[in-house]
Amino acid sequence: AVESRDRLRIAIQKSGRLADPARALLASCGLSWRESRDRLFCYGETLPVDLLLVRDDDIPGLIADGVCDLGIVGRNVLEEQDAERLRGGATPAFREMRSLGFGGCRLALAVPESWSWQGPAQLAGTRIATSYPALLQAWLEREGIVADVVTLSGSVEIAPRLGQADLVCDLVSSGATLAANQLKPVATLLESEAVLAGPVGEFDGERALLAEMLLRRLDGALRTRH
Ligand code: ATP
Ligand code: ZN
Repeated sequence: AVESRDRLRIAIQKSGRLADPARALLASCGLSWRESRDRLFCYGETLPVDLLLVRDDDIPGLIADGVCDLGIVGRNVLEEQDAERLRGGATPAFREMRSLGFGGCRLALAVPESWSWQGPAQLAGTRIATSYPALLQAWLEREGIVADVVTLSGSVEIAPRLGQADLVCDLVSSGATLAANQLKPVATLLESEAVLAGPVGEFDGERALLAEMLLRRLDGALRTRH
């Protein structure tokens, strides 16, 4: 039930780590935009490809609902929302189409520095703070561990010091934030980077041609970068 449109609409992060590199990558594909005053919608000038500037967490849902055709988002966000849909009994509604080579990080378990890590079995009965409850729960189930998942929307790394949790499952890049909170990474649940996300189904009409052309240009741009 996707509305019929003859322009392609791409969702990217409005501000944050992925905002500038996402826009730069699309610009390197020959796209340019006339920005609207409120900067939520950018109208494509060189091609009928518009941008929607949103919170990264909204991107998978916008694709699932057909409001946007494509999106640039961290694999961590895409996989979390996919896992959440799966748990709720829903069918997959979006998929990763390309990995984009920026925004690299990993979703990792991190324990207090004082712990000597003996492996996942050590986590039985602990409280784990995370913003990625579906990915963490799926991992715990695969490992056969029962633990208490404490879902927090932010400031996950201070939860152990506040007594809210025993350890965390959080995004790590340099590890500096963990170290500043006397935590150390001990296991990786997901290797992440920015990805191009799209719907599970095919586009039709004009948008199919536009998406095909954009992917061709994107592949060219990614090749010259690497
Ligand atoms: P928004 O306001 O859009 O919700 P946010 O605070 O959720 O923004 P950012 O902190 O800008 O998001 O991170 C966006 C993405 O950058 C993450 O989802 C992840 O894929 C990637 N990333 C790379 N390195 C890190 C890191 N060290 N910590 C967090 N995210 C990282
Ligand atoms: Zn976010």
